Amino acid sequence: MKAAFFREHGGPDRVEFGDLPDSPAPGPGRIRVRIKAAALNHLDLFVRKGIPGIPVPLPHVMGSDGTGVIESVGPGVTRVKPGDDVVLNPGINCGECEFCLSGEHSLCVTFHLLGEHVAGTFADLVVAPAMNAYPKPAGLSWEESAAFPLTFLTAWRMLVTKARVKPGESLLIVGIGGGVAVAALQIAKLLGLAVFVTSGSPEKLDRAKALGANVGIDHGKTDFSAEIRRLTGKRGVDVVLDSVGKATWRQSIASAAKGGRLLTCGATTGPDPQTDLGRIFWNQLTVYGSTMGTHAEFAGMLKLFRDGKVKPVVDAVFPLSDAGEALRRLEEKRQFGKIVLRVD
Ligand SMILES: [Zn+2]
Repeated sequence: MKAAFFREHGGPDRVEFGDLPDSPAPGPGRIRVRIKAAALNHLDLFVRKGIPGIPVPLPHVMGSDGTGVIESVGPGVTRVKPGDDVVLNPGINCGECEFCLSGEHSLCVTFHLLGEHVAGTFADLVVAPAMNAYPKPAGLSWEESAAFPLTFLTAWRMLVTKARVKPGESLLIVGIGGGVAVAALQIAKLLGLAVFVTSGSPEKLDRAKALGANVGIDHGKTDFSAEIRRLTGKRGVDVVLDSVGKATWRQSIASAAKGGRLLTCGATTGPDPQTDLGRIFWNQLTVYGSTMGTHAEFAGMLKLFRDGKVKPVVDAVFPLSDAGEALRRLEEKRQFGKIVLRVD
């Protein structure tokens, strides 16, 4: 099969495109999917560089997001069949641990992602659990279908399950442009929130406003927490979503209203920011960590697309053979929305 992969960890020059042995025939409860389109995530960069404590067999095929046609199914699989058009939930859980049995699949003790510990979607063929296959939304192209699973699931769990946002509340999204941030903006507007976004790029702020963002703040020119205080009459916002991390976390804390909620699902500038315990206890803030989501959340999020209410934002489409160049675009933070690889 054709695939984008690396033989050793390192920089962008480690990404290769070429032939690898086909993914193995699917075992019990598993399916093999002929991929039509895949999408990039920051995780692909972390995996390529090497994540301490997470060894991967080499050569390693990257890619968590993928959509395509089921090519074959393993013993015992009945919920899907060869020929079905599917999107894949990238999060793989065991189904047996105490967290899985309580329905908290992304807390599974062996939770892992396609393309992280196991071979991913940047290939003609990928093997995944049958329970991770969901019907491809009919109104979306292959490229659009690849562009939503990881980011919309992550944003959905944070806003709907964790922060339990309500119409009329205010949300600050720090660093608009990345996949999760753009998905959160789209979901928040559907749910009737007032949305503030920050970026150092005027173009990205304009694109966010075109998607419904109420206010764009250039965080290259100003302390965005001071600007949020000014814009809200010193009140602050109800919810802050910060997946930037080290560079912005303190300002995010200072942007939250009393009783506010802070959401973190990643830290692209580093996981060890300075914090502000004084503001956290005095303003009675709640910090929610969140990773991916449950199967119920994936199914709930999927309905957004069945109803045609929203389409994932596709930043650019590259052929699989140009995966290295696509990853470079992601690494240089030039994207707005999802960078997609066309595989067939
Ligand atoms: Zn489990």
